[in-house]
Amino acid sequence: MAVILDGKQLAEQIRAQIKAEIAEMGLTPGLAVVIVGDNPASRIYVDHKKTDCAACGIRSEEIALPEEAGEEQLLTVIAELNRRPDIHGILVQMPLPKGYCEKKVIQAIAPEKDVDAFHFVNVGRIMVGDYAFLPCTPAGVMALLDHYGIDPAGKRAVVVGRSDIVGKPQAMMLLHRNATVTICHSKTPDLGAVTREADILVAAVGRTGLITADMVKRGAVVVDVAMNRDENGKLCGDVDFAEVEPIASYITPVPGGVGPMTRAMLLQNTIMAAKRVSQL
Ligand code: NAP
Repeated sequence: MAVILDGKQLAEQIRAQIKAEIAEMGLTPGLAVVIVGDNPASRIYVDHKKTDCAACGIRSEEIALPEEAGEEQLLTVIAELNRRPDIHGILVQMPLPKGYCEKKVIQAIAPEKDVDAFHFVNVGRIMVGDYAFLPCTPAGVMALLDHYGIDPAGKRAVVVGRSDIVGKPQAMMLLHRNATVTICHSKTPDLGAVTREADILVAAVGRTGLITADMVKRGAVVVDVAMNRDENGKLCGDVDFAEVEPIASYITPVPGGVGPMTRAMLLQNTIMAAKRVSQL
C-alpha cells in the first residue's frame, strides 16, 4: 500500500502559514486576475483563485474583459497593472480566446509581477537555477515531495509530458535537485520501457489511464499532475490509480494531490512578489 501524497492537507497548512505571514507583514499583497471572454473552465479557476486569496488575506482584483475587447486593450490593462504599486502579482487566465497572442500577452507582464512564472525572464531563471518565481504546478509537486521527505537526489526521474508550463519546468526542477531526468512525450517509442526505470514518475499528459501498473517500477513515487474527466465526468488523472497504488511507495490522488498544491503555490508566489517589491 502506497503512502498518499495528500496535497489537500498540505495546501491547507501552506495557506495557514501564508495567512499568519501576511498578518505579520503589515502589507496586504495584491493580486490582479485578468480574465478575457466567458470560458466556463477559466471562470471556475478564477473564482477558486479569488476564494483562496480571500481565505488568507491577499486582496484580489478581477479584471474581466469581453472576448471582443481585443489584444490592444488587454495590453493596456496589463501596462496599467504593471505600474500600480498596490498590485504585486498579475496573472492572465489562459487560454485566451482566438485572436489573442498568448506569448505576446505574457511578455507584457512585468517579470517581477509574473506570479505564474511564464514570462521568458522567469523561464530563463528556471533554466539556470536562479529562481525568482516558480511555475505553480511543478513547484507544487516539489513542495509535496519535500514535505514527505522524498529527496530527488540520485534518483531516476521520468517526466511524461513536455509542456512549457508543467513538463519542462518540472524536469528542470528535478534536475536542479540532482535527479537524473528523462522527459517523455507523444513521440517517445515504448513509453513503458522508460517509465519502468523511474524512481520518481511524474505524469503530466492529460490522457486517462495512460500509466498502467506494468509501466511502473515497484516502490516508485508516482505523481499524477493530470486533471482529466472519465466517461462518467469524474475527475481523474493519467495514472490508473487502482492498479498502480499497490505497487507504488507514494502516490498522489486525483483529485486532492497536485491540484490543491498548484493553488497554494500561486498564493506563495504572490506573497513573495509583495515582499520583493516592498523589500521586506
Ligand atoms: P499539454 O500542453 O497538452 O501537454 C501534454 C504533453 O503530453 C505534451 O508534451 C504531449 O507530447 C504529451 N503526450 C501526449 N500524448 C502522449 C502520450 N501518448 N505519451 C506520452 N506523452 C504524451 O498539457 P499540460 O498543460 O502540460 O497539462 C497536462 C495535464 O496536466 C492535463 O491533464 C492538465 O489538465 C493537467 N494540469 C493540471 C494542473 C494541476 O494543477 N493539477 C495544472 C496544469 C495542468 P507532445 O509534446 O509530443 O505533443
